[in-house]
Amino acid sequence: MGKNIAFIGLGHMGGPMAANLVKAGHHVAGFDLSPEALDAARSAGVEIAESAAQAAAGANIIITMLPAGRHVIGAYEGPDGLLATASPGTLFLECSTIAVDDARKVHELLAAAGHRGLDAPVSGGTVGAENGTLTFMVGGGATDFAAAEPILAAMGQRIVHCGGPGAGQVAKVCNNMILGVSMIAVSEAFVLGEKLGLSNEALFDVASAASGQCWALTTNCPVPGPVPGSPANRDFAPGFAGSLMAKDLDLAVQALATAGVEAKMGSAAEEIYRNFAAGDGAGRDFSGIINEIRAAASAEAAA
Ligand code: NAD
Repeated sequence: MGKNIAFIGLGHMGGPMAANLVKAGHHVAGFDLSPEALDAARSAGVEIAESAAQAAAGANIIITMLPAGRHVIGAYEGPDGLLATASPGTLFLECSTIAVDDARKVHELLAAAGHRGLDAPVSGGTVGAENGTLTFMVGGGATDFAAAEPILAAMGQRIVHCGGPGAGQVAKVCNNMILGVSMIAVSEAFVLGEKLGLSNEALFDVASAASGQCWALTTNCPVPGPVPGSPANRDFAPGFAGSLMAKDLDLAVQALATAGVEAKMGSAAEEIYRNFAAGDGAGRDFSGIINEIRAAASAEAAA
C-alpha cells in the first residue's frame, strides 16, 4: 500500500527520486526553497507543500535530500523543524551526503525526539536518480532498515545495510576516497604514456584487462575514445562534477581526522580536487583532472 511520504529537497537528485516514489504509488508531499525545483516536482505528480513542516504533517516517512549537513540539521531543528512537527515515531531517511559526525548527530537528534531514522546516502548520480538505479548505503537499526527497504527500492537498484548509525555515510566517504584517488592515478598513467609515445588506446587495452583495471578507467575513462560514453568524449560535461568530488573528499578528510587515520593518498586527492574545483573544474566532470596533470607535465617539460 502507498505511504505518505514527505520529501524535503527536490533538486537534481531529490526531484527525480520523488518522481519515482510517485510512480511507485506513494503519496509524496514535497518542499524545496527553489521555485524551479517545485515546478518540476509538481509536474511529476508531487503535491507541493508551503513549508517543510506542512509536508511533514501526516507523513509516515520523511526523506531529506539536501546539499550538506548544516542544511539537514537546520531543517530538522527549531519550532517549525521536522523533528518538532513530525508525528511521534516517524521514520526519517536522510539521503544527502553529509559528514559522518553530522550523520551521527542526526541519529541522536532523532532518538531524542522519539523518532526513528537511517542515514541512506546514494551513489549513481542524476542518471541513477532518474532511472531508479541508485545504490543506497544505509546505516541504522535492522527493524528500521526492513521498514525502509521497499521505499528505497522504488528509487534504487542496490540497497546495502552497512551497519549501525552513520555506517552508510562511512561507506560513502570511503568509496568516494577510492574514486578520487583512482581517477588521479589513471589520469597520471595516461599522461605518462602519452609523454613516452604510448597511444591511449594501447594503454587502455592493456590496463583494462590487467591489474590497473578500475571504474575510473573502464567506465569514466579520462581520455576520449576507448569508452564512448565517458565524459572525456563530450569535453568533460558532467557526469560527476569536480565540485561534488571536492565536497566528498573534504568529508573524507574530516572523517580521517575523526578516526585518527593518516591517509596520504586521500589527503593529496582532497587538495588536488579542492584546487580543481576552485577553478573551472567545479562545473566539469571530475575526470577533467587529466587536463591539469597534462598541463603541469607540459610546463615541466618546457622548463
Ligand atoms: P541540489 O543542489 O541540486 O539540490 C538540493 C536542493 O535542496 C536544492 O533544490 C535546494 O533549493 C534545496 N534546499 C536547500 N536547503 C533547503 C531547505 N532548508 N529546505 C528545502 N529545500 C532546501 O543538489 P543535488 O545534486 O540534488 O544533491 C543533493 C545531495 O545528494 C547532496 O548532499 C549531494 O552531495 C548528494 N549527491 C549528489 C549526487 C549528484 O550527482 N548530484 C550524487 C550522489 C549524492
